[in-house]
Amino acid sequence: MKTKESVLTAGGYTVLVQRKSIKNMYLRVDPQTGWLKVSAPRFTSDRTIADFVGRRADWIEKALTKAREKAAKPVRTFSSADRRAFRAKCEAALQRWQPLVGRRANGFSVRDMKTRWGSCNTRTGHLNFNLKLLDMPPECLDYVVVHELCHLWVNGHSKAFWAHVERVYPDYRRVRKQLRQ
Ligand SMILES: [Zn+2]
Repeated sequence: MKTKESVLTAGGYTVLVQRKSIKNMYLRVDPQTGWLKVSAPRFTSDRTIADFVGRRADWIEKALTKAREKAAKPVRTFSSADRRAFRAKCEAALQRWQPLVGRRANGFSVRDMKTRWGSCNTRTGHLNFNLKLLDMPPECLDYVVVHELCHLWVNGHSKAFWAHVERVYPDYRRVRKQLRQ
């Protein structure tokens, strides 16, 4: 059976309703258009859908605010010149910190990563650095380089690991806090 679409006004919101062969009602904000969408079982009345939406006003406000903020934020893209500049910075930071940490990376890559500032493959000794560090104060890259190099001593974030970090970068807690924001 086909999905039936209609538009409904509920609780001051315009809602796109899709009735289809499902058991429960779902509400979501379409991330592209910012529209509220309800999926409902085929024979749900408009009234039931309006009540359902009305009860979720708090959730809707939060979700809409989030969707708007996301749409307003420009996406940072990195040109090949950015990549080259960042590679050079990483290279320099590695030269500076490797002798102090007492470990050498076996190559590195620069990548636009979503959730991590850097990573270390302890098996191959290959490091990754997040291109977003290019927009941060230089000490942030220094800290991430030290952090990943220290993983070549200790895998994971044990006390022993942080002792290595602190030995070469005593001020690491402050920089770490900056990176978490
Ligand atoms: Zn780590």
